[in-house]
Amino acid sequence: MRSSAAGMRLIGGRLCLDFVNTIDGRKSDSPRTKSTSINSVVLGDKLGEYSDLVAWSLHSGIVTAAEARRLEQESKRKPAATKAVLGRAIQLREALHRIFKSTMTQRKPQSVDLETLNDELQEARKHERLVASTKGFTWQWIDSEAALDQMLWPIAYSAAEFLSEADLSRLRECGGEECGWLFEDTSRNRSRQWCHMQDCGNLEKVRRFRTRLRSSA
Ligand SMILES: [Zn+2]
Repeated sequence: MRSSAAGMRLIGGRLCLDFVNTIDGRKSDSPRTKSTSINSVVLGDKLGEYSDLVAWSLHSGIVTAAEARRLEQESKRKPAATKAVLGRAIQLREALHRIFKSTMTQRKPQSVDLETLNDELQEARKHERLVASTKGFTWQWIDSEAALDQMLWPIAYSAAEFLSEADLSRLRECGGEECGWLFEDTSRNRSRQWCHMQDCGNLEKVRRFRTRLRSSA
């Protein structure tokens, strides 16, 4: 079965934001996601299985098709390690979501969440090497052949880069009633409201139209 993670829109503008968006209907006032916790499958969570994480990583371009196949094979041989990596991925995703949300409301993030991100960064750095090429020097990931957690390295980096270098006042949450997706608003006049017009933008228009109809009846 094709994973829904492989078909989702990548609208965040940053890898780390698209990763946080692997849950639908996350808005805090949405009753559907009140019970969101690590290891519990919630409605709208696209990362129910490790294979979903691999499918999303391929979709996002952080693993190649060959790497994805290798990860699938490797995961079947190491079920316990695979489960641990999925747990780390969800933990990282939820920590990032809380960090981003606190940033949007000018609150200090919880140190435990920053700790989670730093732990993943430290892990990622072990696999980073500076290599010389004809065009100069570049960073490369090494030892990724059989590393079940290889997709977490670029995600952690993307989050660190975003938090330390980007204009965080451009971080937005979709205006859709239940959506909760995050994105970096790179529009010139900072006016982007929706994850995607065809999803939440149109839904909101329909909702407003219905409200108007009701109130005028
Ligand atoms: Zn939306």
